[in-house]
Amino acid sequence: MEKKMYINDEWVSTVEYAELKSPYTQEVIARIPQATKEDVVAAVNAAEGAQQAMVSLTALERANILYSIAEAFAEKRMEAAEIISQESSKPLKYALGEIDRTIETYRFAGDEAKRLVGEMIPMDAAKTGQNRFAYTLEQPLGIIAAITPFNFPQNLVAHKVGPAIAAGNTIVLKPASQTPLSTLFLAEIIEQTTLPKGAFNVVLGSGGVVGDTLVENEKVKMITFTGSPAVGIQIRAKAGLKRVALELGSNSGLIVDRDVNISYVVNKCVTGAFSNQGQVCISLQRIYVVEDVFDAFVEEMVEKTENLNVGSPLEETTDISAMIHEKEQQRALHWIEEAIAEGASLLYGGTVKDGVLLPTILANVNQRSKVSCEEVFAPIVSINKISSVEEGIIAINDSDYGLQAGIFTKDIGTAFAASKQLEVGGVVINDIPTYRVDQMPYGGVKQSGTGKEGVKYAIHEMTETKLVIWNQE
Ligand code: NAD
Repeated sequence: MEKKMYINDEWVSTVEYAELKSPYTQEVIARIPQATKEDVVAAVNAAEGAQQAMVSLTALERANILYSIAEAFAEKRMEAAEIISQESSKPLKYALGEIDRTIETYRFAGDEAKRLVGEMIPMDAAKTGQNRFAYTLEQPLGIIAAITPFNFPQNLVAHKVGPAIAAGNTIVLKPASQTPLSTLFLAEIIEQTTLPKGAFNVVLGSGGVVGDTLVENEKVKMITFTGSPAVGIQIRAKAGLKRVALELGSNSGLIVDRDVNISYVVNKCVTGAFSNQGQVCISLQRIYVVEDVFDAFVEEMVEKTENLNVGSPLEETTDISAMIHEKEQQRALHWIEEAIAEGASLLYGGTVKDGVLLPTILANVNQRSKVSCEEVFAPIVSINKISSVEEGIIAINDSDYGLQAGIFTKDIGTAFAASKQLEVGGVVINDIPTYRVDQMPYGGVKQSGTGKEGVKYAIHEMTETKLVIWNQE
């Protein structure tokens, strides 16, 4: 029940502990150590001590370590998924999907470790570059501090740990305080690998103490953060000259054109809006439907949402379970009430059943209502009628965020125009904005962040390009 942190290849206790409760049953499932500043410094020093050993590993050795992490997850797939479901209330089928992606992410990282290359520089293209031969090396940065959110406690950690190891860096990881058990499970797996002692460390506790101490530590070379915009902005302000990658939130939008197969699109939208209770950074939050098909779309959306199974996250048939915390559920309910007062119609949900906020569909939502213009991070979707695709593009761009957007259309010209005009990090044609695979470049514009993830791209962020010039005169 009482857990330990993983620092310098040892399982360590500390002074204070916090109770970890299941968001669904409210039962205490573990007692979690709350790292002191000294614990964080010990983890950073362990990582510093391991850096030389990391640099000495060959690309093949780093790749094989990553492949062995992937294989361990494949062997313990169900156990790893159940931990996610228990501590975060992610329904088991989605937790299993997350573990499958985690396995792929570590495999991609292993592959990329073997492909880490610099480039030849054509020096003689410059007047004074004759007889010079130059190339770049992609060298590890050193200590990477990874700070991660609760909503994908294994795969979003993999997006930081995998690339960091692939590039030859050391890591201090601080997971979300709601989901420490998944990280400890990873530490048990890494303990069995040949990763050098001290190269991977886990510190647990609040963002305030642990996060701040890590962000301000001068030995840390990069902070890779995934979480809310508010915290991301604070981190950037405190990080000084450290490299910072920020993967933040959004209020993803989708356009549905008149010429599409409505049933196909609705099936995708129900999953995109409500999987993991809408607590996904690219959750489908705003749908803009061309007026000709609006009524048919809405009718089918309500019908399919009514059929979702609400219940325990550990049941394989459950589609929707509890949000991460009661106070988040209260916030969501309040935002629904506010949207209705501001003119929206409630088409389904809006109430709590057995502690679970039902999937909620709103229509004719004011763009300035919080459920539309803020990140809702709850099982709530807004559907609005548009007279043209252009109107949908303007509505999607009318946002402080820009992670991904989607458009369903059969018209190739419309698809090309939308892909150019949508102000986001990724445009998905004929699928929902919630679509992601783990090797693709991924990251937002505006308040959705800076820097790219997706294994190869994250590795690039985690290396220093060093130039080597030879004079051949
Ligand atoms: P959060 O910002 O509350 O917490 C994220 C992490 O930051 C946690 O580990 C937390 O303990 C830590 N933290 C909190 N305060 C800190 C501080 N002052 N200094 C340093 N660290 C601090 O986010 P959350 O509720 O866990 O996750 C939800 C958010 O994450 C949403 O906004 C979601 O969109 C975003 N998210 C983004 C992506 C992406 O790839 N863009 C993916 C998943 C989630």
